[in-house]
Amino acid sequence: MTKAIWLRASLAIEEIILSSKRVAILGAGPSGLAQLRAFEAARQSGREDLPEIICYEKQADIGGMWNYTWRTGLDKNGEPVHGSMYRYLWSNGPKECLEFADYSFDEHFGRAIPSYPPRAVLKDYIMGRIDQQAIKKYIRFECPVRWVEYDDDSKKFTVTVTNHKTNTQEVEEFDYVVVATGHFSTPNMPFFKGIDKFPGRVLHAHDFRDALEFENKDVLVVGSSYSAEDIASQCFKYGAQSITISYRSQPIGHTWPEGMEERPLVTHFEGNIAHFSDGSTKGFDAVIMCTGYLFHFPFLPDELRLITENCMYPNNLYKGVLFQPNPQLIYLGMHDQYYTFNKLDVQAWYARDIILGDKVLADAKTRQADIKIWRDRHDKLDGSDEQNIDFQADYILDLLALIDYPDFPVREQAELFKQWLRDKQENIMGYREKTYPSTITNTMATELPKPWLEIKDDSLESFMSLDFVEATVD
Ligand code: FAD
Ligand code: NAP
Ligand code: MG
Repeated sequence: MTKAIWLRASLAIEEIILSSKRVAILGAGPSGLAQLRAFEAARQSGREDLPEIICYEKQADIGGMWNYTWRTGLDKNGEPVHGSMYRYLWSNGPKECLEFADYSFDEHFGRAIPSYPPRAVLKDYIMGRIDQQAIKKYIRFECPVRWVEYDDDSKKFTVTVTNHKTNTQEVEEFDYVVVATGHFSTPNMPFFKGIDKFPGRVLHAHDFRDALEFENKDVLVVGSSYSAEDIASQCFKYGAQSITISYRSQPIGHTWPEGMEERPLVTHFEGNIAHFSDGSTKGFDAVIMCTGYLFHFPFLPDELRLITENCMYPNNLYKGVLFQPNPQLIYLGMHDQYYTFNKLDVQAWYARDIILGDKVLADAKTRQADIKIWRDRHDKLDGSDEQNIDFQADYILDLLALIDYPDFPVREQAELFKQWLRDKQENIMGYREKTYPSTITNTMATELPKPWLEIKDDSLESFMSLDFVEATVD
Protein backbone atom coordinates (compact mmCIF):
# COMPACT_ATOMS: atom_id res chain seq x y z
CA MET A 1 0.00 0.00 0.00
CA THR A 2 1.41 3.42 -0.86
CA LYS A 3 1.61 5.96 1.88
CA ALA A 4 -1.19 8.06 0.29
CA ILE A 5 -3.58 5.11 0.03
CA TRP A 6 -2.72 4.02 3.56
CA LEU A 7 -3.40 7.52 4.83
CA ARG A 8 -6.75 7.68 3.04
CA ALA A 9 -7.73 4.26 4.38
CA SER A 10 -6.82 5.10 7.94
CA LEU A 11 -8.64 8.42 7.70
CA ALA A 12 -11.73 6.60 6.47
CA ILE A 13 -11.54 4.18 9.42
CA GLU A 14 -11.13 7.11 11.77
CA GLU A 15 -14.18 8.75 10.24
CA ILE A 16 -16.18 5.58 10.76
CA ILE A 17 -15.02 5.40 14.37
CA LEU A 18 -15.80 9.08 14.87
CA SER A 19 -19.20 8.81 13.21
CA SER A 20 -20.12 5.60 14.99
CA LYS A 21 -22.61 6.54 17.64
CA ARG A 22 -22.77 4.88 21.00
CA VAL A 23 -26.07 4.08 22.68
CA ALA A 24 -26.62 3.04 26.30
CA ILE A 25 -29.84 1.19 27.10
CA LEU A 26 -30.60 1.14 30.82
CA GLY A 27 -32.59 -1.98 31.71
CA ALA A 28 -33.31 -5.26 29.91
CA GLY A 29 -37.00 -5.63 30.71
CA PRO A 30 -39.63 -5.62 27.93
CA SER A 31 -38.80 -1.97 27.07
CA GLY A 32 -35.02 -2.40 26.89
CA LEU A 33 -35.46 -5.66 25.00
CA ALA A 34 -37.78 -3.96 22.52
CA GLN A 35 -35.05 -1.37 21.90
CA LEU A 36 -32.39 -4.04 21.40
CA ARG A 37 -34.67 -5.94 19.09
CA ALA A 38 -35.44 -2.85 17.03
CA PHE A 39 -31.72 -2.39 16.34
CA GLU A 40 -31.25 -6.10 15.75
CA ALA A 41 -34.05 -6.03 13.16
CA ALA A 42 -32.22 -3.21 11.36
CA ARG A 43 -28.97 -5.18 11.48
CA GLN A 44 -30.64 -8.29 10.09
CA SER A 45 -32.09 -6.28 7.25
CA GLY A 46 -28.58 -5.36 6.20
CA ARG A 47 -28.03 -1.97 7.81
CA GLU A 48 -24.35 -1.33 8.39
CA ASP A 49 -24.38 2.10 10.00
CA LEU A 50 -25.63 0.87 13.34
CA PRO A 51 -24.46 2.37 16.60
CA GLU A 52 -22.47 0.53 19.20
CA ILE A 53 -24.87 -0.55 21.92
CA ILE A 54 -24.39 -1.46 25.55
CA CYS A 55 -27.37 -2.44 27.68
CA TYR A 56 -26.84 -2.30 31.44
CA GLU A 57 -29.07 -4.55 33.53
CA LYS A 58 -29.15 -4.65 37.31
CA GLN A 59 -30.47 -8.23 37.46
CA ALA A 60 -28.70 -11.40 36.37
CA ASP A 61 -31.14 -12.10 33.51
CA ILE A 62 -33.42 -10.47 30.96
CA GLY A 63 -37.17 -10.04 31.45
CA GLY A 64 -37.47 -7.13 33.89
CA MET A 65 -40.63 -7.38 35.95
CA TRP A 66 -41.38 -10.77 34.36
CA ASN A 67 -38.20 -12.22 35.82
CA TYR A 68 -39.99 -13.50 38.93
CA THR A 69 -38.03 -13.46 42.15
CA TRP A 70 -38.90 -14.87 45.57
CA ARG A 71 -36.67 -12.21 47.09
CA THR A 72 -37.90 -9.01 48.66
CA GLY A 73 -35.85 -6.11 49.99
CA LEU A 74 -32.35 -6.47 48.59
CA ASP A 75 -30.99 -8.82 45.94
CA LYS A 76 -27.86 -10.93 46.26
CA ASN A 77 -25.72 -7.91 45.36
CA GLY A 78 -27.39 -5.67 47.93
CA GLU A 79 -29.40 -3.80 45.27
CA PRO A 80 -33.12 -3.04 45.76
CA VAL A 81 -35.14 -5.96 44.38
CA HIS A 82 -36.81 -4.88 41.15
CA GLY A 83 -39.59 -7.47 40.91
CA SER A 84 -43.13 -6.71 42.08
CA MET A 85 -44.73 -9.81 40.61
CA TYR A 86 -46.08 -12.62 42.75
CA ARG A 87 -46.76 -16.33 42.56
CA TYR A 88 -50.15 -17.16 41.07
CA LEU A 89 -50.25 -13.89 39.09
CA TRP A 90 -52.26 -14.27 35.91
CA SER A 91 -52.48 -11.71 33.18
CA ASN A 92 -55.06 -9.13 34.22
CA GLY A 93 -55.81 -8.16 30.63
CA PRO A 94 -56.64 -10.31 27.58
CA LYS A 95 -53.56 -11.68 25.85
CA GLU A 96 -55.18 -10.66 22.56
CA CYS A 97 -54.51 -7.03 23.52
CA LEU A 98 -50.78 -7.51 23.86
CA GLU A 99 -50.13 -9.92 21.00
CA PHE A 100 -47.18 -8.93 18.80
CA ALA A 101 -47.96 -8.08 15.21
CA ASP A 102 -44.98 -10.15 14.03
CA TYR A 103 -45.13 -13.07 16.51
CA SER A 104 -48.53 -14.55 17.27
CA PHE A 105 -49.56 -16.78 20.16
CA ASP A 106 -50.37 -19.48 17.59
CA GLU A 107 -46.81 -19.33 16.31
CA HIS A 108 -45.38 -19.63 19.79
CA PHE A 109 -47.61 -22.32 21.33
CA GLY A 110 -48.67 -24.15 18.17
CA ARG A 111 -52.25 -24.28 19.41
CA ALA A 112 -54.94 -22.08 20.83
CA ILE A 113 -54.73 -21.24 24.53
CA PRO A 114 -57.06 -19.31 26.88
CA SER A 115 -57.21 -15.50 26.87
CA TYR A 116 -55.76 -14.91 30.36
CA PRO A 117 -52.57 -16.92 30.83
CA PRO A 118 -50.65 -17.13 34.09
CA ARG A 119 -47.41 -15.16 34.45
CA ALA A 120 -45.05 -17.98 33.50
CA VAL A 121 -47.00 -18.71 30.31
CA LEU A 122 -47.01 -15.08 29.25
CA LYS A 123 -43.32 -14.76 30.01
CA ASP A 124 -42.62 -17.82 27.87
CA TYR A 125 -44.38 -16.10 24.97
CA ILE A 126 -42.64 -12.74 25.39
CA MET A 127 -39.23 -14.37 25.60
CA GLY A 128 -40.00 -16.76 22.75
CA ARG A 129 -39.82 -13.95 20.25
CA ILE A 130 -36.37 -12.90 21.27
CA ASP A 131 -33.25 -14.34 19.72
CA GLN A 132 -31.51 -14.52 23.08
CA GLN A 133 -28.09 -15.26 21.62
CA ALA A 134 -28.26 -12.24 19.35
CA ILE A 135 -29.53 -9.95 22.07
CA LYS A 136 -27.58 -11.04 25.13
CA LYS A 137 -24.23 -10.09 23.64
CA TYR A 138 -25.18 -6.43 24.09
CA ILE A 139 -26.16 -6.81 27.74
CA ARG A 140 -23.97 -6.38 30.80
CA PHE A 141 -25.77 -8.18 33.60
CA GLU A 142 -25.52 -7.34 37.29
CA CYS A 143 -24.55 -3.79 36.32
CA PRO A 144 -26.78 -1.25 38.08
CA VAL A 145 -26.43 2.23 36.62
CA ARG A 146 -25.26 4.65 39.28
CA TRP A 147 -25.08 8.00 37.52
CA VAL A 148 -25.62 9.64 34.15
CA GLU A 149 -24.20 13.03 33.22
CA TYR A 150 -24.43 15.11 30.06
CA ASP A 151 -21.70 17.40 28.81
CA ASP A 152 -22.99 20.36 26.81
CA ASP A 153 -19.66 20.85 25.01
CA SER A 154 -18.99 17.30 23.84
CA LYS A 155 -22.75 16.56 23.61
CA LYS A 156 -22.09 13.19 25.21
CA PHE A 157 -23.34 11.34 28.24
CA THR A 158 -21.08 9.75 30.80
CA VAL A 159 -22.64 6.65 32.31
CA THR A 160 -21.24 5.17 35.52
CA VAL A 161 -22.20 1.66 36.59
CA THR A 162 -21.16 -0.82 39.24
CA ASN A 163 -20.24 -4.13 37.69
CA HIS A 164 -21.00 -6.65 40.43
CA LYS A 165 -19.43 -9.48 38.47
CA THR A 166 -16.02 -7.82 38.46
CA ASN A 167 -16.64 -5.67 41.53
CA THR A 168 -15.46 -2.60 39.65
CA GLN A 169 -16.91 0.70 38.58
CA GLU A 170 -17.22 1.22 34.82
CA VAL A 171 -17.46 4.60 33.15
CA GLU A 172 -18.31 5.01 29.46
CA GLU A 173 -19.39 7.74 27.07
CA PHE A 174 -22.48 7.65 24.90
CA ASP A 175 -24.31 9.81 22.37
CA TYR A 176 -27.74 8.53 23.39
CA VAL A 177 -29.14 7.11 26.61
CA VAL A 178 -32.36 5.10 26.62
CA VAL A 179 -33.95 4.86 30.07
CA ALA A 180 -35.91 1.61 30.25
CA THR A 181 -35.82 0.97 33.98
CA GLY A 182 -39.59 0.64 34.53
CA HIS A 183 -41.75 2.46 37.05
CA PHE A 184 -43.47 -0.21 39.11
CA SER A 185 -40.68 -1.04 41.55
CA THR A 186 -40.30 1.68 44.15
CA PRO A 187 -43.22 1.49 46.59
CA ASN A 188 -45.34 4.51 47.39
CA MET A 189 -45.85 3.71 51.08
CA PRO A 190 -48.32 5.95 52.92
CA PHE A 191 -48.38 6.48 56.66
CA PHE A 192 -51.49 6.11 58.78
CA LYS A 193 -51.53 7.04 62.44
CA GLY A 194 -51.04 3.93 64.56
CA ILE A 195 -49.68 1.76 61.73
CA ASP A 196 -46.29 1.75 63.47
CA LYS A 197 -47.88 -0.19 66.35
CA PHE A 198 -49.99 -2.56 64.22
CA PRO A 199 -49.36 -6.02 65.72
CA GLY A 200 -49.16 -7.93 62.44
CA ARG A 201 -47.63 -7.92 59.00
CA VAL A 202 -47.65 -4.59 57.12
CA LEU A 203 -46.31 -4.74 53.58
CA HIS A 204 -46.49 -3.03 50.21
CA ALA A 205 -47.72 -4.83 47.07
CA HIS A 206 -44.10 -4.72 45.83
CA ASP A 207 -43.20 -7.25 48.55
CA PHE A 208 -46.30 -9.45 48.18
CA ARG A 209 -45.25 -12.88 46.89
CA ASP A 210 -47.57 -15.67 48.03
CA ALA A 211 -51.26 -15.35 48.89
CA LEU A 212 -51.09 -18.55 50.94
CA GLU A 213 -49.39 -16.50 53.65
CA PHE A 214 -52.79 -14.92 54.30
CA GLU A 215 -54.87 -18.12 54.48
CA ASN A 216 -57.49 -17.82 57.25
CA LYS A 217 -56.43 -14.23 57.94
CA ASP A 218 -58.42 -10.99 57.99
CA VAL A 219 -56.66 -8.83 55.43
CA LEU A 220 -56.87 -5.10 54.83
CA VAL A 221 -55.92 -4.01 51.31
CA VAL A 222 -55.38 -0.24 50.89
CA GLY A 223 -55.80 1.18 47.35
CA SER A 224 -58.33 0.77 44.56
CA SER A 225 -56.42 0.13 41.36
CA TYR A 226 -55.09 -3.01 39.63
CA SER A 227 -52.83 -4.21 42.44
CA ALA A 228 -55.60 -3.82 45.02
CA GLU A 229 -58.14 -5.60 42.81
CA ASP A 230 -55.78 -8.45 41.96
CA ILE A 231 -54.07 -8.99 45.30
CA ALA A 232 -57.44 -8.93 47.06
CA SER A 233 -58.72 -11.53 44.53
CA GLN A 234 -55.59 -13.65 45.07
CA CYS A 235 -56.12 -13.60 48.83
CA PHE A 236 -59.73 -14.68 48.32
CA LYS A 237 -58.70 -17.46 45.94
CA TYR A 238 -56.10 -18.85 48.33
CA GLY A 239 -58.30 -18.88 51.43
CA ALA A 240 -58.10 -15.59 53.34
CA GLN A 241 -60.88 -15.35 55.92
CA SER A 242 -61.96 -11.85 54.94
CA ILE A 243 -60.67 -9.10 52.68
CA THR A 244 -61.50 -5.42 53.10
CA ILE A 245 -60.44 -3.01 50.36
CA SER A 246 -60.03 0.57 51.51
CA TYR A 247 -60.28 3.25 48.81
CA ARG A 248 -59.15 6.87 48.84
CA SER A 249 -60.97 8.37 45.82
CA GLN A 250 -63.34 5.81 44.42
CA PRO A 251 -64.33 2.24 45.19
CA ILE A 252 -63.39 -0.36 42.58
CA GLY A 253 -67.09 -1.09 42.50
CA HIS A 254 -67.27 -4.78 41.61
CA THR A 255 -69.82 -7.12 43.08
CA TRP A 256 -67.50 -8.95 45.43
CA PRO A 257 -68.11 -12.49 46.70
CA GLU A 258 -69.02 -13.07 50.33
CA GLY A 259 -66.05 -12.33 52.53
CA MET A 260 -64.92 -9.36 50.46
CA GLU A 261 -66.02 -5.76 50.82
CA GLU A 262 -64.96 -2.19 50.12
CA ARG A 263 -64.77 0.61 52.66
CA PRO A 264 -63.65 4.22 52.41
CA LEU A 265 -60.18 5.24 53.47
CA VAL A 266 -58.69 4.04 56.72
CA THR A 267 -58.04 7.04 58.99
CA HIS A 268 -55.94 5.40 61.73
CA PHE A 269 -55.20 2.23 63.61
CA GLU A 270 -55.58 1.35 67.28
CA GLY A 271 -53.77 -1.91 67.86
CA ASN A 272 -55.06 -4.23 65.19
CA ILE A 273 -58.28 -2.22 64.76
CA ALA A 274 -58.58 -0.07 61.65
CA HIS A 275 -60.83 2.99 61.78
CA PHE A 276 -62.40 4.04 58.48
CA SER A 277 -63.61 7.48 57.42
CA ASP A 278 -67.27 6.37 57.56
CA GLY A 279 -66.82 5.73 61.30
CA SER A 280 -66.73 1.95 60.97
CA THR A 281 -64.01 -0.24 62.51
CA LYS A 282 -62.65 -3.74 61.94
CA GLY A 283 -59.79 -5.85 63.30
CA PHE A 284 -57.12 -7.23 60.93
CA ASP A 285 -54.22 -9.65 60.92
CA ALA A 286 -52.36 -8.01 58.03
CA VAL A 287 -52.30 -4.81 55.98
CA ILE A 288 -51.25 -4.78 52.31
CA MET A 289 -50.62 -1.33 50.85
CA CYS A 290 -51.58 -1.47 47.17
CA THR A 291 -50.85 2.22 46.90
CA GLY A 292 -48.86 2.37 43.69
CA TYR A 293 -45.28 3.18 42.83
CA LEU A 294 -42.94 6.15 42.63
CA PHE A 295 -41.07 7.15 39.50
CA HIS A 296 -37.58 6.75 40.83
CA PHE A 297 -34.43 7.50 38.84
CA PRO A 298 -31.70 7.82 41.48
CA PHE A 299 -29.08 7.71 38.70
CA LEU A 300 -30.26 10.91 36.99
CA PRO A 301 -29.44 14.53 37.85
CA ASP A 302 -32.28 17.08 38.02
CA GLU A 303 -31.86 18.35 34.47
CA LEU A 304 -32.24 14.85 32.95
CA ARG A 305 -34.86 13.41 35.26
CA LEU A 306 -38.44 12.83 34.17
CA ILE A 307 -40.75 14.11 36.87
CA THR A 308 -44.25 12.68 36.64
CA GLU A 309 -46.93 10.72 38.38
CA ASN A 310 -48.33 7.53 36.82
CA CYS A 311 -50.47 8.94 33.99
CA MET A 312 -51.44 8.47 30.36
CA TYR A 313 -49.06 11.07 28.90
CA PRO A 314 -46.15 12.23 31.08
CA ASN A 315 -45.11 15.82 30.44
CA ASN A 316 -41.86 16.66 28.65
CA LEU A 317 -41.78 13.57 26.44
CA TYR A 318 -42.06 14.30 22.73
CA LYS A 319 -43.98 11.48 21.04
CA GLY A 320 -44.02 9.97 24.52
CA VAL A 321 -40.33 9.07 24.37
CA LEU A 322 -37.88 11.90 23.61
CA PHE A 323 -37.00 14.01 26.63
CA GLN A 324 -37.86 17.54 25.56
CA PRO A 325 -34.99 19.42 27.28
CA ASN A 326 -32.49 16.96 25.76
CA PRO A 327 -33.79 14.62 23.05
CA GLN A 328 -30.60 12.54 23.12
CA LEU A 329 -32.20 11.14 26.25
CA ILE A 330 -35.01 8.70 25.56
CA TYR A 331 -37.54 7.24 27.97
CA LEU A 332 -39.42 4.04 27.13
CA GLY A 333 -42.54 2.63 28.79
CA MET A 334 -43.26 5.58 31.05
CA HIS A 335 -47.01 5.79 30.42
CA ASP A 336 -49.58 4.10 32.56
CA GLN A 337 -50.45 0.91 30.81
CA TYR A 338 -53.34 -0.60 28.97
CA TYR A 339 -51.44 -1.61 25.85
CA THR A 340 -48.09 -2.99 26.91
CA PHE A 341 -45.65 -4.98 24.75
CA ASN A 342 -46.85 -3.85 21.33
CA LYS A 343 -46.79 -0.23 22.51
CA LEU A 344 -43.23 -0.65 23.82
CA ASP A 345 -42.23 -2.05 20.43
CA VAL A 346 -43.65 0.95 18.62
CA GLN A 347 -41.86 3.36 20.96
CA ALA A 348 -38.56 1.50 20.53
CA TRP A 349 -38.94 1.47 16.73
CA TYR A 350 -39.48 5.22 16.68
CA ALA A 351 -36.52 5.85 19.04
CA ARG A 352 -34.31 3.70 16.81
CA ASP A 353 -35.25 5.69 13.72
CA ILE A 354 -34.41 8.95 15.51
CA ILE A 355 -31.05 7.59 16.69
CA LEU A 356 -30.20 6.30 13.22
CA GLY A 357 -31.10 9.69 11.77
CA ASP A 358 -33.77 8.12 9.56
CA LYS A 359 -36.24 10.56 11.04
CA VAL A 360 -35.37 14.22 11.20
CA LEU A 361 -35.89 15.49 14.71
CA ALA A 362 -38.31 18.42 14.78
CA ASP A 363 -37.04 21.64 16.36
CA ALA A 364 -37.73 22.36 20.03
CA LYS A 365 -40.66 24.69 19.32
CA THR A 366 -42.43 22.20 17.07
CA ARG A 367 -41.85 19.43 19.60
CA GLN A 368 -43.25 21.59 22.39
CA ALA A 369 -46.36 22.35 20.35
CA ASP A 370 -46.92 18.62 19.79
CA ILE A 371 -46.46 17.84 23.48
CA LYS A 372 -48.98 20.55 24.30
CA ILE A 373 -51.61 19.07 21.99
CA TRP A 374 -51.31 15.70 23.72
CA ARG A 375 -51.11 17.15 27.21
CA ASP A 376 -54.22 19.28 26.58
CA ARG A 377 -56.08 16.20 25.44
CA HIS A 378 -54.71 14.33 28.42
CA ASP A 379 -55.99 16.98 30.82
CA LYS A 380 -59.49 16.62 29.37
CA LEU A 381 -59.69 12.86 29.99
CA ASP A 382 -62.40 12.04 32.52
CA GLY A 383 -60.35 9.30 34.17
CA SER A 384 -62.55 6.48 32.85
CA ASP A 385 -60.87 3.38 31.47
CA GLU A 386 -62.81 3.74 28.21
CA GLN A 387 -61.40 7.19 27.49
CA ASN A 388 -57.91 6.17 28.57
CA ILE A 389 -57.98 3.18 26.22
CA ASP A 390 -59.00 5.27 23.21
CA PHE A 391 -56.40 7.89 24.10
CA GLN A 392 -53.64 5.29 24.25
CA ALA A 393 -54.83 3.76 20.97
CA ASP A 394 -54.61 7.21 19.33
CA TYR A 395 -51.11 7.65 20.70
CA ILE A 396 -49.96 4.32 19.27
CA LEU A 397 -51.53 5.09 15.89
CA ASP A 398 -49.78 8.47 15.86
CA LEU A 399 -46.41 6.75 16.29
CA LEU A 400 -47.23 3.88 13.92
CA ALA A 401 -47.81 6.37 11.13
CA LEU A 402 -44.22 7.53 11.49
CA ILE A 403 -42.46 4.16 11.37
CA ASP A 404 -42.28 1.02 9.30
CA TYR A 405 -43.35 -1.29 12.14
CA PRO A 406 -46.05 -3.69 10.90
CA ASP A 407 -49.47 -2.13 11.30
CA PHE A 408 -51.66 -3.94 13.79
CA PRO A 409 -55.35 -3.66 14.64
CA VAL A 410 -54.99 -1.10 17.43
CA ARG A 411 -58.66 -0.08 17.35
CA GLU A 412 -59.90 -3.67 17.42
CA GLN A 413 -57.71 -4.26 20.43
CA ALA A 414 -59.21 -1.16 22.06
CA GLU A 415 -62.66 -2.72 21.62
CA LEU A 416 -61.39 -5.93 23.26
CA PHE A 417 -60.14 -3.85 26.19
CA LYS A 418 -63.63 -2.40 26.56
CA GLN A 419 -65.12 -5.90 26.48
CA TRP A 420 -62.60 -6.84 29.17
CA LEU A 421 -63.91 -3.99 31.37
CA ARG A 422 -67.48 -5.25 30.96
CA ASP A 423 -66.44 -8.84 31.68
CA LYS A 424 -64.68 -7.78 34.88
CA GLN A 425 -67.69 -5.78 35.94
CA GLU A 426 -69.94 -8.79 35.33
CA ASN A 427 -67.85 -11.22 37.37
CA ILE A 428 -64.56 -10.24 38.94
CA MET A 429 -63.77 -13.82 39.99
CA GLY A 430 -64.78 -15.29 36.63
CA TYR A 431 -63.61 -12.86 33.96
CA ARG A 432 -60.46 -14.86 33.32
CA GLU A 433 -62.69 -17.64 31.98
CA LYS A 434 -63.76 -15.42 29.06
CA THR A 435 -62.32 -15.90 25.60
CA TYR A 436 -61.58 -13.50 22.75
CA PRO A 437 -60.48 -13.85 19.13
CA SER A 438 -56.93 -12.92 18.17
CA THR A 439 -56.83 -9.66 16.23
CA ILE A 440 -53.69 -10.94 14.50
CA THR A 441 -54.66 -14.49 13.46
CA ASN A 442 -58.43 -14.57 14.17
CA THR A 443 -57.88 -17.71 16.25
CA MET A 444 -60.47 -17.98 19.01
CA ALA A 445 -58.99 -18.55 22.46
CA THR A 446 -59.86 -21.82 24.17
CA GLU A 447 -61.74 -22.03 27.45
CA LEU A 448 -60.31 -23.05 30.80
CA PRO A 449 -61.58 -26.54 31.69
CA LYS A 450 -62.63 -25.36 35.16
CA PRO A 451 -63.22 -22.07 36.98
CA TRP A 452 -60.21 -19.78 37.52
CA LEU A 453 -60.81 -19.96 41.28
CA GLU A 454 -60.18 -23.72 41.15
CA ILE A 455 -56.93 -23.64 39.17
CA LYS A 456 -54.35 -23.10 41.86
CA ASP A 457 -51.23 -24.55 40.31
CA ASP A 458 -50.37 -22.05 37.60
CA SER A 459 -46.93 -23.25 36.53
CA LEU A 460 -46.21 -23.34 32.79
CA GLU A 461 -46.19 -27.16 32.75
CA SER A 462 -49.38 -27.52 34.74
CA PHE A 463 -51.26 -24.86 32.78
CA MET A 464 -50.22 -26.18 29.38
CA SER A 465 -51.28 -29.71 30.36
CA LEU A 466 -54.85 -28.61 31.13
CA ASP A 467 -57.48 -29.85 28.69
CA PHE A 468 -58.53 -26.55 27.18
CA VAL A 469 -62.01 -26.56 25.71
CA GLU A 470 -62.84 -25.17 22.30
CA ALA A 471 -64.90 -22.04 22.88
CA THR A 472 -68.57 -22.24 22.01
CA VAL A 473 -69.66 -19.53 19.63
CA ASP A 474 -72.95 -17.92 20.54
P1 FAD B 1 -39.55 -3.51 33.78
O1 FAD B 1 -40.16 -4.78 33.35
O2 FAD B 1 -39.81 -3.03 35.15
O3 FAD B 1 -37.96 -3.63 33.51
C1 FAD B 1 -37.04 -2.64 33.92
C2 FAD B 1 -35.64 -3.27 33.98
O4 FAD B 1 -34.68 -2.25 34.34
C3 FAD B 1 -35.50 -4.36 35.02
O5 FAD B 1 -34.91 -5.50 34.45
C4 FAD B 1 -34.59 -3.75 36.11
O6 FAD B 1 -33.78 -4.70 36.76
C5 FAD B 1 -33.76 -2.78 35.29
N1 FAD B 1 -33.22 -1.67 36.08
C6 FAD B 1 -33.87 -0.88 36.96
N2 FAD B 1 -33.03 0.03 37.49
C7 FAD B 1 -31.81 -0.18 36.92
C8 FAD B 1 -30.54 0.44 37.05
N3 FAD B 1 -30.34 1.48 37.87
N4 FAD B 1 -29.51 -0.04 36.32
C9 FAD B 1 -29.69 -1.10 35.47
N5 FAD B 1 -30.89 -1.73 35.31
C10 FAD B 1 -31.92 -1.27 36.03
N6 FAD B 1 -48.16 -6.01 31.93
C11 FAD B 1 -48.87 -6.80 31.11
O7 FAD B 1 -48.84 -6.60 29.90
N7 FAD B 1 -49.61 -7.83 31.56
C12 FAD B 1 -49.65 -8.13 32.88
O8 FAD B 1 -50.33 -9.07 33.28
C13 FAD B 1 -48.89 -7.31 33.80
N8 FAD B 1 -48.87 -7.58 35.11
C14 FAD B 1 -48.15 -6.79 35.95
C15 FAD B 1 -48.16 -7.09 37.30
C16 FAD B 1 -47.48 -6.31 38.22
C17 FAD B 1 -47.53 -6.65 39.68
C18 FAD B 1 -46.75 -5.20 37.76
C19 FAD B 1 -46.02 -4.32 38.72
C20 FAD B 1 -46.73 -4.90 36.41
C21 FAD B 1 -47.43 -5.69 35.51
N9 FAD B 1 -47.44 -5.43 34.13
C22 FAD B 1 -48.15 -6.23 33.28
C23 FAD B 1 -46.75 -4.25 33.60
C24 FAD B 1 -45.24 -4.44 33.42
O9 FAD B 1 -44.66 -3.35 34.08
C25 FAD B 1 -44.88 -4.49 31.96
O10 FAD B 1 -45.42 -5.68 31.43
C26 FAD B 1 -43.39 -4.53 31.65
O11 FAD B 1 -42.69 -5.31 32.57
C27 FAD B 1 -42.76 -3.14 31.57
O12 FAD B 1 -41.49 -3.29 31.01
P2 FAD B 1 -40.27 -2.29 31.28
O13 FAD B 1 -39.11 -2.86 30.58
O14 FAD B 1 -40.68 -0.91 30.95
O15 FAD B 1 -40.03 -2.30 32.85
P1 NAP C 1 -51.67 2.37 40.38
O1 NAP C 1 -52.50 1.91 39.24
O2 NAP C 1 -50.79 3.53 40.20
O3 NAP C 1 -52.69 2.68 41.57
C1 NAP C 1 -52.31 3.21 42.79
C2 NAP C 1 -53.47 3.15 43.79
O4 NAP C 1 -53.01 3.55 45.06
C3 NAP C 1 -54.64 4.05 43.44
O5 NAP C 1 -55.84 3.38 43.68
C4 NAP C 1 -54.48 5.22 44.43
O6 NAP C 1 -55.68 5.80 44.80
C5 NAP C 1 -53.91 4.47 45.62
N1 NAP C 1 -53.20 5.31 46.58
C6 NAP C 1 -52.06 6.01 46.39
N2 NAP C 1 -51.71 6.64 47.51
C7 NAP C 1 -52.64 6.35 48.43
C8 NAP C 1 -52.84 6.71 49.79
N3 NAP C 1 -52.00 7.53 50.42
N4 NAP C 1 -53.89 6.21 50.45
C9 NAP C 1 -54.76 5.40 49.81
N5 NAP C 1 -54.64 5.01 48.53
C10 NAP C 1 -53.60 5.50 47.85
O7 NAP C 1 -50.74 1.19 40.92
P2 NAP C 1 -51.01 -0.40 40.96
O8 NAP C 1 -52.41 -0.72 41.28
O9 NAP C 1 -49.95 -0.94 41.85
O10 NAP C 1 -50.72 -0.90 39.47
C11 NAP C 1 -49.42 -0.80 38.90
C12 NAP C 1 -49.29 -1.64 37.64
O11 NAP C 1 -49.24 -3.01 37.96
C13 NAP C 1 -50.43 -1.49 36.62
O12 NAP C 1 -49.88 -1.35 35.33
C14 NAP C 1 -51.17 -2.80 36.70
O13 NAP C 1 -51.75 -3.17 35.47
C15 NAP C 1 -50.09 -3.74 37.09
N6 NAP C 1 -50.62 -4.91 37.79
C16 NAP C 1 -50.98 -6.01 37.06
C17 NAP C 1 -51.46 -7.15 37.69
C18 NAP C 1 -51.76 -8.38 36.87
O14 NAP C 1 -51.52 -8.40 35.71
N7 NAP C 1 -52.30 -9.41 37.42
C19 NAP C 1 -51.62 -7.16 39.05
C20 NAP C 1 -51.28 -6.02 39.78
C21 NAP C 1 -50.78 -4.89 39.13
P3 NAP C 1 -56.31 7.07 44.04
O15 NAP C 1 -57.16 6.47 42.98
O16 NAP C 1 -57.07 7.74 45.11
O17 NAP C 1 -55.17 7.89 43.52
MG1 MG D 1 -46.34 2.70 9.50
